[in-house]
Amino acid sequence: MLTKKLPPVQSILFLVTRRASHLSKQRYDVIVVGGGHAGTEAAAAAARVGAETLLVTQKIHTIGALSCNPSLGGVGKGHLVREVDALDGLCGRAGDWAGIHFSILNRRKGPAVWGPRAQLDRQRYREFIQAELLSTPRLMVLEGSVEKLLVTDPNPEEPGSHRVTGIHLANGSHPISASSVVLTTGTFLSGSLFMGQTTSPGGRIGDAPSSTGLSETLRERLGLRVGRLRTGTPPRILKDSVDLSLAKLHPPDTHPAPFSFMNTHTRCKPEEQLPCYLTYTTPGVERVVRESLHLNCHIHQDTKGPRYCPSIESRVLRFPGRSHQVWLEPEGMTSDLFYPQGLSMTMTPDVQLRLIREIPAMHRAEIHTPGYGVQYDYVCPTQLSPALQVKNTQGLFLAGQINGTTGYEEAAAQGLWAGVNAARWALSRPLVALSRTESYIGVLIDDLVSRGVKEPYRMFTSRAEFRTSLRPDNADLRLTLKGFEVGCVSSVRHDVALRVKSSLQDAIASLQALTLSTNRWRKKLPGISVSESKSSMLSGMELLQYKDVSYEILASVFPECLSPYMELSQRLKIEAVYKPHCDLSKREIERIQKEENMSLPQDIDYFTLPVSLSQEVREILDRFRPSTLGAATRLEGMTPAAVVTLFNYVHLTG
Ligand code: FAD
Repeated sequence: MLTKKLPPVQSILFLVTRRASHLSKQRYDVIVVGGGHAGTEAAAAAARVGAETLLVTQKIHTIGALSCNPSLGGVGKGHLVREVDALDGLCGRAGDWAGIHFSILNRRKGPAVWGPRAQLDRQRYREFIQAELLSTPRLMVLEGSVEKLLVTDPNPEEPGSHRVTGIHLANGSHPISASSVVLTTGTFLSGSLFMGQTTSPGGRIGDAPSSTGLSETLRERLGLRVGRLRTGTPPRILKDSVDLSLAKLHPPDTHPAPFSFMNTHTRCKPEEQLPCYLTYTTPGVERVVRESLHLNCHIHQDTKGPRYCPSIESRVLRFPGRSHQVWLEPEGMTSDLFYPQGLSMTMTPDVQLRLIREIPAMHRAEIHTPGYGVQYDYVCPTQLSPALQVKNTQGLFLAGQINGTTGYEEAAAQGLWAGVNAARWALSRPLVALSRTESYIGVLIDDLVSRGVKEPYRMFTSRAEFRTSLRPDNADLRLTLKGFEVGCVSSVRHDVALRVKSSLQDAIASLQALTLSTNRWRKKLPGISVSESKSSMLSGMELLQYKDVSYEILASVFPECLSPYMELSQRLKIEAVYKPHCDLSKREIERIQKEENMSLPQDIDYFTLPVSLSQEVREILDRFRPSTLGAATRLEGMTPAAVVTLFNYVHLTG
């Protein structure tokens, strides 16, 4: 909660280190490897579910570090933050604590695709996450590098089925055993850093890569398919050296909206927020990129980079002659640095300086830290189940960048769900999945495990078929009660969600009971043009769908029945506007759910199945082994006819 006073970071580090050095046990229910965005959510979620959990990470003081951009949320990503929060995760509350510039993106479109976003103070974000982990019961933190996973040989009865039993640390200390392990190694798995023509081992600037032993366990011992991806980060610029009179001021929202359902306001007061600035590249930038290409080895590699967050080199080469946006974003409340979003680059530092000085607002800019690129191993995520468990290794779960995604929010979302399942596995409870009809997290995981990735995957609203019902405003109604059932939501949050749900239901019932003729509405609300409806009778809920009718206006006319729900006014307006769409998609969801959840036997031999399926479809099914009919439907190369054939076969034989 925002009222909490955080201890200074030094004392947090001292306390955490003290706990780690007094590690009393050599056996845990769950071990989480990596203290990034996936790992912190996984560890906290596993502990909330009730598992004795150990988080092992290379450096305690980098827990919760924002490796690249100092921001959280955005279009699609903001939905994930709200959903993680609805499941009692950390990142939404951390964002409210650390945010210094809040804005809702996509405001010109409907609220279903609004993107809550905040610029963050890096230090405050880390402090919050570290303090949260420290105060989480059943969670221990250990500084160390995991060298190897302990796994059993495959069970002869079940070919290809390993079981994870713990980890080995690089310092050679005793192995630590666990019933489940969650790997969240981010950009560190066999990571290499690139700047100009120089390459060095690393997972992030200043941090060593994950040991090769871990990659070997995954590739050789477990036989997993592993690929390689890349990303990059821009140089950090000294604020004082930028001529802000040549950039366009971008103010924050005047009423910062918190990410968390548990917060009514953000820590940063509206008037304390810092602005961002917008500027553009010039032809000089393109010239510098082209002249220095031969000195830039990262750009010549054929590993795939993030298409939606490309380097300036890729942008210039893909769209020659264009001017590209560069956002100057503050790195913290008192930081003297700007993060130039849009200028991720991997040239030598002298070329980076020449390049940024081609932008008018930065003609005298100084670089504090140069940009660089990173390449890393990821595990092809089609080898995971919807619970994020490796299909051929019981108890091993993967989450975050290791699954081929990019972004803090995507990592946090997977981390939370992998943590829930790792704990449930360890406590002998059934694994759980989220469907794409109920959440963006379900969409994300389903896309990963059923389609795989060819380039770093990031979330967009267009990936969700049911986006009119999967809105940022209703993530609590969709997920908090389910989260409570699976064990990751506290009773405090559960009670809040129940109260909100029941107030919304009461308010909607009151609005529906207010059914008047259109003539009477016109008399009551003379300033509003109420059109003749088919039935000429209109409920308050229907009237609220009109653009110029707000809940406040209706409550001023009918204060007795509507004023008790004033604090839900915005949510009620959104509910009313989306009601017709949601009613439609609810019917569609019910139809799909019926078929989507139909399980496909995992031992099915697709090559000998006595039905009419093309060889190509058989190969796809054999390769991806979808666990449900819904997952099969979304496999690339599956035809509607093949889905019907499969449905009929399983229906008849199952
Ligand atoms: P990380 O945040 O990378 O955390 C991994 C953690 O695991 C680290 O704490 C590490 O110390 C620990 N670890 C690794 N191996 C071991 C081991 N063997 N033992 C113990 N601990 C271990 N995202 C974007 O959306 N857009 C971008 O433009 C972008 N650019 C990036 C540029 C760079 C240079 C980097 C490094 C990252 C960039 N990212 C970008 C990615 C973003 O940082 C990640 O998506 C996000 O941090 C992933 O979270 P994660 O938890 O999976 O991994």
